[in-house]
Amino acid sequence: MVQPAYDPETKTHHYEFLGPPGALGISVLVPVFTYFFAFGCDERGCPSLPLGPFLSNGLKQMQTWQFYADLWDTKAAIAYLAWYAWCVVCWAVLPGQWLEGTTLRNGEKLWYKINAFQTFIATMAALGAVYFLYGLQPFLFAYDHWIGLCTASLLMSVVQATYCYAMSFIPNTMLSTGGNTGNVLYDWFIGRNLNPRIGIFDIKTFNELRPGLILWMILDICMAVKQYSRIGRITDSMILVQIFQAIYVFDAMYNEAGILTQMDITTDGFGFMLAVGDLFWVTFTYGLQTRYLALYPVDLGWLWTSAIVATNCLGYYIFRVSNAEKNDFRNGKNPKNLQYMKTERGTNLLTSGWWGVSRHPNYLGDWIMAWAWCLPTGWNTPITYYYVIYFGILLAHRQNRDDEACKAKYGKDWDKYCKIVKWKIIPGLY
Ligand code: NDP
Repeated sequence: MVQPAYDPETKTHHYEFLGPPGALGISVLVPVFTYFFAFGCDERGCPSLPLGPFLSNGLKQMQTWQFYADLWDTKAAIAYLAWYAWCVVCWAVLPGQWLEGTTLRNGEKLWYKINAFQTFIATMAALGAVYFLYGLQPFLFAYDHWIGLCTASLLMSVVQATYCYAMSFIPNTMLSTGGNTGNVLYDWFIGRNLNPRIGIFDIKTFNELRPGLILWMILDICMAVKQYSRIGRITDSMILVQIFQAIYVFDAMYNEAGILTQMDITTDGFGFMLAVGDLFWVTFTYGLQTRYLALYPVDLGWLWTSAIVATNCLGYYIFRVSNAEKNDFRNGKNPKNLQYMKTERGTNLLTSGWWGVSRHPNYLGDWIMAWAWCLPTGWNTPITYYYVIYFGILLAHRQNRDDEACKAKYGKDWDKYCKIVKWKIIPGLY
C-alpha cells in the first residue's frame, strides 16, 4: 500500500561521520591506510622502515607524479576487471533463489537473486582447475601485482559510487533518508541512491559480498602459496588464519539472505563508503595477517594453536547463534521460545537469549573472532593487530548508529528496551 506521505526524495537534515569533513577524511584515509599496509609490510620488514623515515620518505614520494603512475598496473587492472566480470556472469547464469527484500518507504518490495554461495563454489572449482592445469605459479600473481590490484579495485569503487550518485538524480529515484543533504561530497560518500539498479541487477547487494569477500579469500590462498614458495611448507599459524577467514567468508556466502535485513541494504544508500568498504578495504586489508605470515612465518605449536582455536570457536558460536536467533525471530520463528517485548511499531524485540545479554551480541562474537585472526601472527609487529583495533572502533560506532536508528524507529519502546538490556556490546563492560 502506498503511504500518503511518501516522498522519494526526503531531505536529510543531519550529518553522520562528522559531516563533509569526516566524509573527506575517510575517503582519503581508507586508501592511505590500505597503501600504507601494502608498502609498509614487505620483504624489508613489517613495518618496512621505522615509522619516521617511512612517513617522511612516503610524503616526499607522494609529491611526485611518478608515485601515482607507479600505482597503476595494466596487467593487474585487466585481472581485476576479469574477476569482476566473472562475478557478474556467475550472478547471471548460476541458479539462485529470488527473495523479497524489506518493505520500502513506498510500501513496495524489491526482489534479489541469492546465489553468492554458488558463485563462491564455482570460483573455488575454477581455482582448482587453474592449479590442476598450471600448478602454483599463477597464484603468485597476486603478491607480485598487489599494488596494481589495490588501485584497480579503488578505481572501481570511485566509478561505481560516482555512477550511482549521478543516477540518483533521475526523477522518482528512491533516495536514502541519510544521503540527501545537498552537499555533493557528503552525499556521494554516504550514498544518495538507496537501491541503485541496472534492470534487475542490484548494485548494492551484489557488491556487499561477492567481488570483495571472495577475492579476499583468493588473496589469502595466494599468500599461503607465497609462503610455500619461500620456505617450502605452510606454517600452523598460516593454516589457522586461512581456516578462520575461510569459515567467515563461507558463512557470509551461505547466509547471504541475511544481508537483506542489514542496515547497509535496508537503510544506507550506495555511495563511496559502501563501495570502497566492500570492494577495496575489506579485500586488501582484512587478510593482512596472511600477507605478513607469507613473509614472516610463525610457528605456534599446539598450546597456542589450541588457545587460538578456542577463541575463534567462542567468537563464532556467539556470532552465529545470536544472528540466527534474530533472523529466525524476524522471519516469524522462535524455536527457543525466547522472551520478547511488544512494540507500537509492530516488530517485536527479543529480550532473552543472546539479545537479552547485550544490544549487539553479534558484534561481540565478531570482535572475539577478530582477535583469533590476529593472534597467530605473534607479537613481533603491531601492524597485524590493526584489524582488531579498527574493527572494535567500527563496531562501537556502528552500534551507536544502530541505536540511533532504532530510537527513531521504536521511540519510547526503544528506551524501555534499553532499560531491560543495558549493555551495548560487551556485558558488564560496554
Ligand atoms: P544487526 O544484524 O545487528 O541488526 C540490527 C537490527 O536488528 C536493528 O536495526 C533492529 O532492526 C534489529 N534488532 C535490534 N535489537 C533487536 C532485538 N532485541 N530483537 C530483534 N531485532 C532486533 O546489524 P548489522 O548489519 O550491523 O550486523 C550484521 C552482522 O554483520 C553482524 O554479525 C556484524 O557483526 C556483521 N558485520 C560485519 C562487518 C565486517 O566488516 N566484518 C561490518 C558490519 C557488520 P529491526 O528492529 O528493524 O529489525
